[in-house]
This record gives sequence, C-alpha cells and structure tokens, in this order.
Amino acid sequence: MGLISRLMTGLLFPERSSCRLCDKTADRASTWRLCRTCYQDLQWLGEQICDVCGRRLDSGSVTGQNTGGSCSDCVRRSRENTFFVTSRSAVGYNDKMKEILGLYKYRGKESLEPFLIDLLFHAFQRYYREIPFDKITYVPLHPQKQRERGFNQTERFATALSERISIPAVPLLIRRKQTEMQSQKSRRQRIKSLRHVFAGQPLHRHFAGVSQEGQDVRRVLLLDDVYTTGSTANECARVLQAGGVGEVYVLTVAR
Ligand SMILES: [Zn+2]
Ligand SMILES: [Zn+2]
Repeated sequence: MGLISRLMTGLLFPERSSCRLCDKTADRASTWRLCRTCYQDLQWLGEQICDVCGRRLDSGSVTGQNTGGSCSDCVRRSRENTFFVTSRSAVGYNDKMKEILGLYKYRGKESLEPFLIDLLFHAFQRYYREIPFDKITYVPLHPQKQRERGFNQTERFATALSERISIPAVPLLIRRKQTEMQSQKSRRQRIKSLRHVFAGQPLHRHFAGVSQEGQDVRRVLLLDDVYTTGSTANECARVLQAGGVGEVYVLTVAR
C-alpha cells in the first residue's frame, strides 16, 4: 500500500480503540471508552438514589412517606446510628461489577485499575464536588491480608483520587482484626463482629482530628471499593468521629 493510500485509510478509519473491559471495539460516542454491551451491563446511578447511602431507589424500595427518600436499610439503621453524612457510588454492585472487582482484587488484573478510579472520580464530581474536604482516607486491610494480596485497592484509589482533586490522602485508620464476609450475617451479628476491628492510626499525625499544621480535620472523604450493608463504612466513620473528625462522607466504586 502506498503512502497516500495508507494516509487515506488512516483518515477514514482512525485507530480503533478497544473497550477497557473486553476486546470489542469501544463505542466512539462514549467518553468511557467502553463497548456498548459493557456500558449497558453497568448499572449507572443517577439522581433516584437513597439520600443516605446512595443506593438506587426503585419505586417500592422507599419505605413510608416521611423518610425523605431513604432506603429501608437506612431507615432501619436510623440517623443516630449512622456515623457518616452520606455515601455515594458510581454504579450498582451487580454481576458485571462483581466480575470486574473480582478480577482486579483476586486475579491481579491491574489493567482494570484506571477504569475503577475513573468511576470513583465520576461519582466524586457528580455528588461531592462542592464539599470542602480536608483529607481523603480509606478502609484499611488487615496487614496479613494486604501481604497476601500485595496491595490495598482502596489505598491505591485514595492516592490516585488525591492527585486528581488535590486533596491529601492520609491513612487515618488501621485494621486490628481480620473479618469474614459481612453480608452473610444478620445486622446484629455484623455490628458485634466489627466492634474493635478498626482503630485510629495511633502514630498518624492527622488522627485526633488535628493535622500537623494544627488545622482541624473537619471533613474527611472515606473511600472503599464496595458498599454492601454499610456496616464497614459506618464503623470506620464512627472510629473517625471518636478520634475527633467532624464529618465523614463515604465514596465507593459500587453500591
Ligand atoms: Zn466491552
Ligand atoms: Zn440507604
């Protein structure tokens, strides 16, 4: 093929980029660089969400008329027992998202990381852009688990998001105990099993709600990969508040 015809072909068919989640051609109209199927397989969360935990509200999942648009889980937990202000996520935790997070966390498919960070950033821009956060922090892994996995995904998310939104990421929490799957347990069991799991990072200068510069840490953005029952995020928020942080907002990739 001559140079001219190569140039012509290049103009007519600009380099096809493939979907970030599979090998199909990405939909050129999409800013996410996903193919149409992958895009549609994700459950994008919009405005019809629980005002506390950010879960998508289908008609019928709002209990009562005076709950202010909260889902039944948040109504049951009640405001006094909720230690974060709100939780928001980019997408629902459906089969597609379980697969993506599973590949990333347990199969070492690190190429998925930029996409997950884009999702977090998208949710941040959508829901939290106006809030003046002092610090970003994240749900810690138990040191043994972190050694096995080689990394803590939420720590990586915190570092990447910190660069994009120019808010410092700091490790405010430590995990003292390993926990099993929370979703298999009853609410009472979950609360009991999470007690004493998290603690303030004792050596961290930002804990106790005061930064090294002597400024108050009033508002913290707490990151996790998934919000399922909310008990982990809520317990972390409780510990942060007990340590002197004013308000804790939660941000997760999926809900
Ligand atoms: Zn795809
Ligand atoms: Zn809710």
